[in-house]
Formats: sequence, structure tokens, C-alpha cells
Amino acid sequence: MPEENQPRTLSPSQKMANIVALAKRRGFVFPASEIYGGLNGFYDFGPLGAQLKNNIRDAWWRDMVECPPLGPDGKPLTIVGLDSAIIQNPETWVASGHATGFADPMQTCRQCKKLFRADHVWEMLKESDWVKSFADAMSPAQPEDLIVFDSGKAMKWAKTKGRKCAPGLALVRNPEVTLSWMVEDLIREPGKVLGIDDVLRHVATEQKARTGLQTPCPNCGGDLTEPRQFNLMFESRVGAVEDGSGRVWLRPETAQGIFLNYKNILDTGRVKIPFGVAQVGKAFRNEVTPRNFIFRTREFEQMEMEFFCPPDDAPQWYEFWVTTRLKWWRERLGLSPERLQRREHDKDELSHYSTSCADVEYKYPFTEPKFGELEGIAHRGNFDLTQHQARSRTNLEYVDQDGGNTRYLPHVIEPASGLTRGALAVLCDSYEYDPARPSPEWLRIKPELAPIKLGVFPLVNKDGMPEMAGKIYLELRQKFISAYDAKASIGKRYARMDEAGTPFCVTVDGDSLKDGTVTVRDRDTARQERVDASRLKDYLGQKLG
Ligand code: ATP
Repeated sequence: MPEENQPRTLSPSQKMANIVALAKRRGFVFPASEIYGGLNGFYDFGPLGAQLKNNIRDAWWRDMVECPPLGPDGKPLTIVGLDSAIIQNPETWVASGHATGFADPMQTCRQCKKLFRADHVWEMLKESDWVKSFADAMSPAQPEDLIVFDSGKAMKWAKTKGRKCAPGLALVRNPEVTLSWMVEDLIREPGKVLGIDDVLRHVATEQKARTGLQTPCPNCGGDLTEPRQFNLMFESRVGAVEDGSGRVWLRPETAQGIFLNYKNILDTGRVKIPFGVAQVGKAFRNEVTPRNFIFRTREFEQMEMEFFCPPDDAPQWYEFWVTTRLKWWRERLGLSPERLQRREHDKDELSHYSTSCADVEYKYPFTEPKFGELEGIAHRGNFDLTQHQARSRTNLEYVDQDGGNTRYLPHVIEPASGLTRGALAVLCDSYEYDPARPSPEWLRIKPELAPIKLGVFPLVNKDGMPEMAGKIYLELRQKFISAYDAKASIGKRYARMDEAGTPFCVTVDGDSLKDGTVTVRDRDTARQERVDASRLKDYLGQKLG
């Protein structure tokens, strides 16, 4: 398409498709085991993705463990780090409640046998191809949650497109019967605008009298079973005996490893309450419906911290951590303030032991105009320590030596965030699209998070330029992660670096050999400046921090 005819803005779904394609093309994220057809819910982080994720992790670790924030009284907090095992004694998960309670209600399609999380079905229906095709066949001009039902068009759709994309749907399997009762039940006035939810329940139901209204399968339109509980923990086996005695689980969250080590840290770390323990690591959940790229995967990384405090102070610490964490995503990671929000959980969303919980939410392209979770901050009371104390028969009480040796189980505030989800938020937030630029797609990643800080190029690969550029590269890469590139036209090389989110490029040209200056190009403005090569380190140091 000629440049001037290209759309300047993208719909959220186009934007997301572009981000996934760019992530693969530039080596941020690949589908796992792709050469074998992939594995649903698993992804690999390529060279740029691994570096981006490490940079986010390092920023979190630095701001939590190495240089934690000042508390509400202006004094520095104590937070220590931990790296606990992924597999722990299975009693851990019995005590924490995960062995019995860590389950999602799930529905199976009787026709195509796919599994769905009951609370995701409607959301998935709205995104489903067959629902889009059906709505389009009925009344393409309506907004997506409304429809004008037309029996003639429905019959035609059922016998043509519907057969291909929704073979399980009652309307497709038995159009005459489904339509005959449906018309009586639903469409008394022709041309009436109806809610799509209602219409979908009707077209999915062959005989209302026998079954009541059905919810269709988002994949094929078929019948869904009643919701059943499904445990999300992955099982494995320790040792050679296969009689079930070695059954273990992969951790579904990093938090429990912290509670298991709480006493070790108290006994060895000379820490006093209040204090925190932070950990970054992999967690595994056999998610029923992994989706939205790396938003919900079956293997992911978390950054979690448990902050132990006296029970009476917990509400104040809760407020402190919610505010601090929201600010971190905004200021430290540079996410757009208007795409971030704090959402307090309703009382019926809270787990039984939790008195308050708030999410830091981000407006991802696939949740727009709504927001999706990035981090949860929960006041967990002393639930976990109480459970582990009872089940392990180990005294986990804190002895307050400054407060007359009183003993108590501290309360806990837990900021729990996803590192992989954080990387996704950074990719989505930094994605820019401008067809007028030589590189229409580029990533405005904050320089300190950018996987590559600097591209170094000879303008042409001869006449002494590669030698000078090579020398500059060898020197600068000691301070900034740099990439040397001598292939393709200079415009293509800039475009490649823009897509990787590289904030600066240094180019050595003919003049450089004469006067010792080079061109420094700024990713965000595409402006170029002449800088003396001997000053480059300082110049870039100021810009890159
Ligand atoms: P959800 O309700 O979306 O299943 P959750 O509330 O159970 O998530 P937590 O147990 O609070 O999630 O986990 C803390 C953080 O871990 C989440 O805020 C999210 O960033 C991340 N996370 C949880 N599950 C996944 C997953 N399947 N894939 C990627 N990140 C995840």
C-alpha cells in the first residue's frame, strides 16, 4: 500500500497482532518448541526478550532488595532476597490450601472436547470467529454486543458459513427445530435489536423445554458441560518408585517458598519486624485457557514479596505498598499513566483469609477498553504462617524483644506481580506505529530497560570505516550493551534498531575519518547529532544513565 494511504492508527486487535509478529521477528518471544508444532501455553524468550525480562527483574530486585523504598516514617525498609526450590515437600501445598482449593471451575465442550474456564467463556465468545461471522451475517452495522436477528439470514448462515465455523451449534446441527421455537420465544417484532448474549443462548439451544437455555462453546458452538473443579497444579514424581509415594507438585506461586523460609531468615538474618522477603522465579499453573500471548501462560515468572508486620500496622502497610507499586510501574518502568489503574477487589472476590486486595491493572490491547491484572497486592493476615505452623508443628511466632517479649504471628502484605506479564506490558506500551517513518513500527522502551542500548555502524563497509566503527564498538560495549551491524542500507539498520527499541545509534562515515566526529541518532526523534568520538562515552552516559 502506498505510504500516504496506510492507516495512521491501528485497532487494538491489529496492534496486538503486530506486537506478536514483531516480538517473533526481532527475537523477543517465540512459541515454545515451535519446530514440533509448539505447546499451548508455553513460550520461549529469545535474545532480546531474555534481556528485556532480565532488565525488568533487575529493576525490581534493585528497588525491593538492594535499595528498598523509605517507609511512611522516612526510614529505609529492610527487605532481603531469597531463591527457594520450585519443588517443595507436598505438605506445603496441603497447608497453603492449593492442594484442595487451587482450582478453577471448568467446562468441557461435548462436541469438540475443548476445555474452558467457566468465568472466561463469555469473554471468549465475544472474540470467537464463529460469533463474529454470525453477527456479521445478521447485522454487520450493529455494535458488537447487539444484533438484529433475521430467521432467513440465520438459516442461510447455518447451512453455509456456520457449517464450517460452528459445526457444534444447535442452529447449525438442526436449524429448522432450533429456529421454530426460537422465533416464538425471542423475536416477536421483526427488526428488533437484541442483546447478543441472549441470541447466542437461543441459537445454542435445540429444545429449551428439556435443557433450559445453553451457553455455546466458543470454539465450535457445541454444548458445554456443567462447570467442574480442575486443579491447576502440575504434578511430577520424585525418585524412581512409581507407587505414588513420590508425588510432588511444581510450585504455582513463589510466595509459599518465602513462608517456608520465614523462620530460617528470622534465625539467621538479624532482621526485625517489620521486614520483607522478596523472590523472583518461575511458577507453573496448568491454566485451562492459556491465551493472549504471554499474558496467561502455563509457565511464567513472578516477582513476589512478603512483608511481615505487626497486625495493627497492616492496614497502613497495605496502603503503602499499593501506592508504591503503582508508582513503580508508572515511573520506573515508564508505563503510560492513563493505561494504569488501581482496582480494589470487591468483598466477594477476596479469598476467605484476605481482608483487602487491590490490583495494579494495565489496559492491554486485548482488554481494551477494560484493564487486566499486572500485579495483585493482598493483605493476607497471618493465614499462611498459621497454616504452616499447625501442619508442620513448628512454632513460627515472632518474639518482639523490643516490646516486652510479646509473641505473635505477624500479618503479611503481599505485592505479587508477573515478570512475564510485566514484559508484555512494556512491549505493548512502547509499541509505536507511524507509517510516515522509515521504520513504521518501533519500540519506545525506556533506555534503562532497552535490551540493546546502542547500535554501532560503519556507513559503508569499506574505506577505513569498519575499522573505526569496530574500535568504537569494542570500547562502548564495555559500558553499554551494544550491537555492531555493517550489513544492509543504513536506513534498514536504523529500522532494525528501532524495532528492537535501541535508543541510540552511532554511525561512522567519511567525515569521521577526517575530523573524528560521528553521527548519533536518537530513536525517538530520529534526529542526528555530530559528536566527537572521544566524547561518546560521556555523551551517551548522560543520556543512558
Ligand atoms: P488470574 O486471576 O488472572 O488467574 P491471579 O489473581 O490468580 O491471576 P496471582 O496468584 O495473584 O494471580 O499471581 C500474581 C501475578 O502473577 C499476577 O498478577 C500475574 O501478573 C502473574 N500471573 C498469574 N498467573 C499467570 C499466568 N498464568 N501467566 C502469566 N502470569 C501470571
